[in-house]
Amino acid sequence: MYIYEGICDWCKKLAMLKKHDYIDGKSHFSCHECNTLATLDVRQFNLAETKSQNEKYFKNN
Ligand SMILES: [Zn+2]
Repeated sequence: MYIYEGICDWCKKLAMLKKHDYIDGKSHFSCHECNTLATLDVRQFNLAETKSQNEKYFKNN
């Protein structure tokens, strides 16, 4: 849902934005045009973060 008005974190244009949540608690906002790219970016980040958390877990246990 594009309920926020502001600057898109991907293309830096003023638009209606959708919130994307990162696994580490951060969030970024994307416009409709950047949504596909943003969704992929966030998914990649979250996968990488989950992987590194698992690696830390196994190293410490
Ligand atoms: Zn954009």
